[in-house]
Amino acid sequence: MPLEIVRLTLGPVQTNAYLVADSTSGDAAVIDPSWDGALILAEAQKRGWRIAHLWYTHAHFDHIGGAAAIADALNPLPLVALHPADHVLWRAAGGGPAFGFNIDPGPEPSIDFVQGMRMRLGKAEFEVRYTPGHTPGHVVLYCADAGVCFCGDLIFANGVGRVDLPGGDVQALIDSIHNQIYTLPDETRLLPGHGPETTVGEEKVSNPFVPGL
Ligand SMILES: [Zn+2]
Ligand SMILES: [Zn+2]
Repeated sequence: MPLEIVRLTLGPVQTNAYLVADSTSGDAAVIDPSWDGALILAEAQKRGWRIAHLWYTHAHFDHIGGAAAIADALNPLPLVALHPADHVLWRAAGGGPAFGFNIDPGPEPSIDFVQGMRMRLGKAEFEVRYTPGHTPGHVVLYCADAGVCFCGDLIFANGVGRVDLPGGDVQALIDSIHNQIYTLPDETRLLPGHGPETTVGEEKVSNPFVPGL
């Protein structure tokens, strides 16, 4: 499988940025360029990868804080993809000012994620799954060939994303996990926005907030 994944845990709330690449072509994307864009860029350059895409699971400031520094160093600019229901949050600098963080949100999103959309990265294909609850425009990115799902702040190892921030909805979050995560094969690796990776099967058995049916 040509998909390579580098996890970098960065920023004031230790957010996982995932640098993913089709290692045969060198085409790379950053799923949630959380913070310290120069560090993410250096990891790509070290491997000879070209960052052509920035894909956001959602627009919270701690998931997009590194975007501007990455984009500033690249020509052509990376294409930014976000679900339109999170555009309001993106324009509000990801809600950062409420926490004392005034980030530069970087280039404007130009690709609207929609449920079922396919994103290509060289030979690798990712399916966009719409998963509101933590934010209104949250999505996860599932790569069936690699058996991995980048799940942002929807679900964590033994946890779930908070729903007390603007636009949060606990019932939507539970429904998203049941319909879009627990329907994936049990062995699917879940790569979350915070904390260690887990699997669908492990969470169905042990997640205290959303048990498997
Ligand atoms: Zn978040
Ligand atoms: Zn987060």
